[in-house]
Amino acid sequence: MQVRNTVILGTGCSGLTAAIYAARANLKPLVFEGHEPGGQLSLTTLVENFPGFPEGIQGPELIENMKRQATRFGAEIRTGHLSGADLSKRPFTLTFGKETVQTETLIIASGASARWLGLPSEQALIGHGVSSCATCDGFFFSGKEITVIGGGDSAMEEALFLTRFATKVTVIHRSEAFRASKIMLDRARQHDKIKFLTNTIVEDVFDVSKKDVTGLRLRDTKSNESYDFPTSAMFLGIGHIPNAKMFEGQLDADKDGYLITQNYVHTRIPGVYASGDVSDRRYRQAVTAAGTGCMAALEAEKFLEEHGR
Ligand code: NAP
Repeated sequence: MQVRNTVILGTGCSGLTAAIYAARANLKPLVFEGHEPGGQLSLTTLVENFPGFPEGIQGPELIENMKRQATRFGAEIRTGHLSGADLSKRPFTLTFGKETVQTETLIIASGASARWLGLPSEQALIGHGVSSCATCDGFFFSGKEITVIGGGDSAMEEALFLTRFATKVTVIHRSEAFRASKIMLDRARQHDKIKFLTNTIVEDVFDVSKKDVTGLRLRDTKSNESYDFPTSAMFLGIGHIPNAKMFEGQLDADKDGYLITQNYVHTRIPGVYASGDVSDRRYRQAVTAAGTGCMAALEAEKFLEEHGR
């Protein structure tokens, strides 16, 4: 079996930046695209804070550009869902269903996926009025009243985006303190279609029997009163869960599952690097993900040189 120099897991901003650097170092990286091609950027609209685009750039376009840039220098991109990994010896062995791949170095840039509330009714109604992607599903709720759950930038961004379609957007947040940046929170607060319900949690989503969202059972955590709130859709904007479960027991992770790295991108196994949101609970920005992707590729290159490539 051919042993690859570098395998990169993930085609988000981090994985693709690693791919560009590794390809330009002539490592012929093999990049695996998983369940969420392009990562978080491909689910967003206008990205206004990625340097070099004074007017902003659409997230999916930015990803597409990075992909073209990586393949132009010889990166090979394949679809594959990692089902097993043996990092106990080099070359490392990775399994993608029936396919097995061996590699001298591994860059884990598998990102983080949307978090759900975990209510059975919520899970049953995903795709029927419950969604974690406003840009994907907002259009279906044109002319309707909808809700967004969360108090961070994601929730504000979703709420603002959804005002294009909805007649009213209610942001439901479990506390009074917002994690959202001031600029995003102010924009949402100033929008006449957006209303806020704070100190409020979702207890249930109706109506599973109709296979459609018709309302929510909410509880005011201050008065402890529950009440029904009619709505046509519930969008989640409550953060993300790192995609690192498949390395449990082999790599160190923190209590929320984020991979722990030393010196930016080094995992505890030499030759295995982690970059982007899978190991970043603090910044989680496109530009920081790109930065650590670059670092991981440079480290992989250095490691291969030191080991006589
Ligand atoms: P976040 O900042 O971690 O915020 C998550 C929010 O969801 C918090 O308000 C949290 O409430 C709430 N939450 C978490 N679990 C919950 C649960 N089980 N039930 C109800 N509420 C729950 O996540 P994020 O908004 O996804 O942002 C992540 C990072 O990406 C941030 O650094 C952010 O700045 C960045 N981002 C930037 C932009 C932009 O600049 N355009 C857009 C999106 C994201 P508590 O506060 O009570 O814990």
